[in-house]
Amino acid sequence: MLGSGGMVVIDEDTCMVDMARRIMHFYAHESCGWCIPCREGTSWLEKMLNRFHAGLGRPEDIDMIGELSKNMLGRTFCPLGDAAAMPTISIVEKFRSEFEDHLQGRCAYNKAAETLLGVR
Ligand code: SF4
Repeated sequence: MLGSGGMVVIDEDTCMVDMARRIMHFYAHESCGWCIPCREGTSWLEKMLNRFHAGLGRPEDIDMIGELSKNMLGRTFCPLGDAAAMPTISIVEKFRSEFEDHLQGRCAYNKAAETLLGVR
């Protein structure tokens, strides 16, 4: 066996902060809760990403989301913890500007989030 992988195809109009929170919602739901980095990490990250996407994030949250994810890597019993951490690390690294946009009340691609931010 060589391993396994998955691919998600999304277009350029997708809000990557929204993508990160949706991914984390899936893994937080799927976590069996046996090991702490996965149980607590996915739960914390889901809450942080939901808050961030709703326009209630703080500048320091961007690095905290990345660091929290890195601290999960290699510290869980099964690969679910790594699978949750890796996309989040990549999204923070590759799409940091979209996190920064949310701090300014802008979600360039997601009208639903703009509506949320508008009532802040
Ligand atoms: S990493 Fe695997 S074993 Fe550990 S809590 Fe998550 S799903 Fe359970």
